[in-house]
Amino acid sequence: MCRHLGYLGPPVPLRSLLFDPPHSLATQAWAPRDMRGGGTINADGFGVGWWPPGAVVPVRHRSAMPIWTDTTLPALAGAVSSGAVLAAVRSATVGMPVVETAAAPFTDGRWLFSHNGVIRGWPSAVAALARDLPVDDLLTLDAPTDSAILWALVRARLRSGEPPAKAVAAVVGDLVTVAPGSRLNLLLTDGHQMIATTLGHALSVRPGRGSTLISSEPLDPGPSWQPVADGHLVTATATEVEITPIFSAPS
Ligand code: GLN
Repeated sequence: MCRHLGYLGPPVPLRSLLFDPPHSLATQAWAPRDMRGGGTINADGFGVGWWPPGAVVPVRHRSAMPIWTDTTLPALAGAVSSGAVLAAVRSATVGMPVVETAAAPFTDGRWLFSHNGVIRGWPSAVAALARDLPVDDLLTLDAPTDSAILWALVRARLRSGEPPAKAVAAVVGDLVTVAPGSRLNLLLTDGHQMIATTLGHALSVRPGRGSTLISSEPLDPGPSWQPVADGHLVTATATEVEITPIFSAPS
């Protein structure tokens, strides 16, 4: 299953997330340590989105190729710095196309989004939820994949003004109902806050001195990484991290 990461803090070269650490995202593409639920490498594309200084809308680069085959990316990633980054490497679920537009991050205005996991019973399991989406959203899906429809469901709630953590938790709740057994590690950011979930896959958080990193797997052996237990929702800024159960216990 895919790997993803999000960073908020002082500007850093993209390279310091994608390539330089001992267990960088590029390393996690070909030698992940904690793949759960199938898949061995993440060779079916990658994407990186970041905010240039002062920008409201992020810039995004995606590809259907393995991240390690992009020979220009290391130099570009050394030359570009940002204080808000979301990047992902993809292991396509069987039956889903290996195309650039299926690689995260997905984007809309100021948002970047990634999904690590699978929707069980896709597409029929989500048909009832998809029917509530505007037909334009369905006709302009990035790709015919579970992650793209998941993004369309989150995006519709964001567009209607729902707070991001509520939107993410609501979509996860709907999917758990209609597609039980789905793996739903989501990651959403607007460059100021990050929302992440754990449902079926690994995730760790590294709160730091004025920066926060969220990553499927720790990028280095440093002691500050904290694993996030399954079934949790992370809400974070550069300076604060809060981890709560996705679903409140019944009272
Ligand atoms: N199911 C999604 C896809 O195929 C995400 C894959 C993953 O997490 N491995 O794009």
